[in-house]
Amino acid sequence: MTEAAPHPERMFSESSPALARVRWNRRITADPDADVRHLTFDLDGLGYRYVEGQALGLLVPGPEGKPRLRYYSIASPRHGDEGDDRSVSVCIKRVIEPEGSPAIGCSHFLCDLEPGAVVGLVGPFGPFFPLPEDRSTPMILAAAGTGIAPFRGLLASMFSGQDWHAPVRVFHGVRSRGEALYRNELEAYLSRPSFRLGHAFSREQHAADGHPARVHHLMAGQARELVDLLENQSGRLYVCGVKGLDETVEAALSEGAADWPALRERMREEGRLRIATS
Ligand code: NAD
Repeated sequence: MTEAAPHPERMFSESSPALARVRWNRRITADPDADVRHLTFDLDGLGYRYVEGQALGLLVPGPEGKPRLRYYSIASPRHGDEGDDRSVSVCIKRVIEPEGSPAIGCSHFLCDLEPGAVVGLVGPFGPFFPLPEDRSTPMILAAAGTGIAPFRGLLASMFSGQDWHAPVRVFHGVRSRGEALYRNELEAYLSRPSFRLGHAFSREQHAADGHPARVHHLMAGQARELVDLLENQSGRLYVCGVKGLDETVEAALSEGAADWPALRERMREEGRLRIATS
């Protein structure tokens, strides 16, 4: 199986980070309970290169002046959101501490960054979700919450200019419509014949069994078709988001497979199964 051209990796370390300026900090959630930012850093003159599907590290001030390193998926395609080869974007959710606790976390520092602020960038690492070189590879992308970030970059590259010559199925689970990250961008791909998109809104919808709607409920209804893409058409399954998402997604797919463990093992060996959940 071939991947896209060799990728840059670990160009910048914690002790020698790239010092990047914030270009944009945009809130991308309407839901008042969820503050998620699309943060873009200027790479002009820094020599920091990356490909979609990689991750990067951000250095955030920690206690006693010692920086802490936080990892995020890269959310932009390799040429950057504006295609100028001079930026990289990430998607960061503000973590709300329990009532009464001081708001001192890393996510607050990052979500509050103003354009022009300078932050240390480490990496890039991976790719954890490589872009297949073969445009006839079926892609099944299952994400929960901010786990959609790496797939945003991947899809932007997959659909830049040309179509993808195989089915692309995206499943995104979030709590509410106001938290449907990048929804407009994802829906814009619906004009491509190969692309289908499903959203599950766990606080606003229920599955047939009465439980909050989640991506695996959407996938269970099409398990046979999805498994066919994986089993007979060399498709890839990429899963990213909350802990446990991989298990529920696999349980749903196994309903459509004669022998899921065997298919899973084959995909894993061939690099067609990629999971990043935490
Ligand atoms: P969240 O807690 O808001 O959950 C999103 C949705 O997932 C909800 O609708 C929830 O009901 C559903 N869900 C929870 N458990 C599930 C399960 N077992 N199966 C199916 N659906 C399930 O999501 P969040 O707060 O955005 O967190 C996303 C996770 O993704 C975090 O753990 C984060 O570390 C990780 N992540 C983030 C990035 C990034 O770049 N920001 C990249 C990769 C992964």
